[in-house]
Amino acid sequence: MASLILRNATLPDGRTGVDILCADGKIAAVGPRLDATAGATLDARGLLVSPPFVDAHFHIDSALTYGMPRVNASGTLLEGIALWGELKPTLTHEAIADRALAYCDLAVSKGLLAIRSHVDTSDTRLLAVEALLDVQKRVKPYLDLQLVAFPQDGVLRSPGALHSLKRALAMGVDVVGGIPHFERTMADGAESVRVLCEIAADLGKRVDMHCDESDDPLSRHVETLAYHAQRLKLHGRVTGSHLTSMHSMDNYYVSKLIPLMKEAGLAAIANPLINITLQGRHDSYPKRRGMTRVPELMAAGVPVAFGHDCVMDPWYPLGSADMLEVASMGLHVAQMTAQSAMRACFDAVTTTPASILGLEGYGLAPGCRADLVLLEARDPVEAIRLRATRLAVVRGGRVVATTPSSRATLDLPGRQSSVDGMPPRS
Ligand SMILES: [Zn+2]
Repeated sequence: MASLILRNATLPDGRTGVDILCADGKIAAVGPRLDATAGATLDARGLLVSPPFVDAHFHIDSALTYGMPRVNASGTLLEGIALWGELKPTLTHEAIADRALAYCDLAVSKGLLAIRSHVDTSDTRLLAVEALLDVQKRVKPYLDLQLVAFPQDGVLRSPGALHSLKRALAMGVDVVGGIPHFERTMADGAESVRVLCEIAADLGKRVDMHCDESDDPLSRHVETLAYHAQRLKLHGRVTGSHLTSMHSMDNYYVSKLIPLMKEAGLAAIANPLINITLQGRHDSYPKRRGMTRVPELMAAGVPVAFGHDCVMDPWYPLGSADMLEVASMGLHVAQMTAQSAMRACFDAVTTTPASILGLEGYGLAPGCRADLVLLEARDPVEAIRLRATRLAVVRGGRVVATTPSSRATLDLPGRQSSVDGMPPRS
């Protein structure tokens, strides 16, 4: 007896009238009108069934702390880092874990079932590392939480930070992080990239650095990151997060840089909600957008994901774990309104981050993990446009979250109707 069958789904690739049979936690079969029985049936009514959303860049240790101990008055990245420094000494294991678990609940309700979160290792107590390794185990049945050792205060700039980062990795943190543009000098930034990539190569770990999160066009640590990825044969295992200085760089230099990134097998993560609000703060008008060159990177074959980065923390007062909101903002900021470009924005919060994280068994093919989201939309572009309701979220073949339809009932003079935002298709 199979556990669950979804009937009459539309898939992100456009196939319609598809049934998906889930058994033993995996997808057993995918096809039209499957002749199968299951313990439970979910009628998709022709709506979109997608693999779950994946957030490739988040900070769960600071999430949901907005206003503690005060709000970020200037709204800048640097005041946010200073504010986080004020908050850190007051944190407790329990408070970090409670907020992280609350965020994971919200994420599951939004069909977000895998998150790569940076965890600050600058605090030599490693309180957040301990708390989040604990949370990682607790949420494992319903959410994949991948952790990045992130030396927020600079791995060379902050005393003891390199030792703390190594301890965090020894404790089980998955990925090596960094923040070269926050080191004291360009030379120290480049040296931090070398040191951190060598640690990752030695330990067989992936790399994901906050890199060039700056409006300074001369912040070029991504070049060094590509160099060491190439030198240490870390092809496909190294990611540059943010890369906002690329927005301001000279075009001639970028025409050399992007092929180097491609050659080194680098991936890129833009964080549209955060980049559009934090960058360009020193500009008058015109104000720079401050998001990296997403369409140009994609066109060159560099995998690009969109991350949420922050939700209600020292850097960002808003956010709701809705990766469709993230995709929508990325689409707008990058002016990616062509049909294929809008589809790529959906991929940037699903399949692309899944490959950056190295998630196993992700997708809608037989043999993949039976992790699915039923969306109240008929295709990926409509899902982005409507921030589609997650009617059902399935993990390992079991429905773990449901949300009522957002269809509204109207009682108008001379006309009764209902609306769900989907125009009729003729
Ligand atoms: Zn970040």
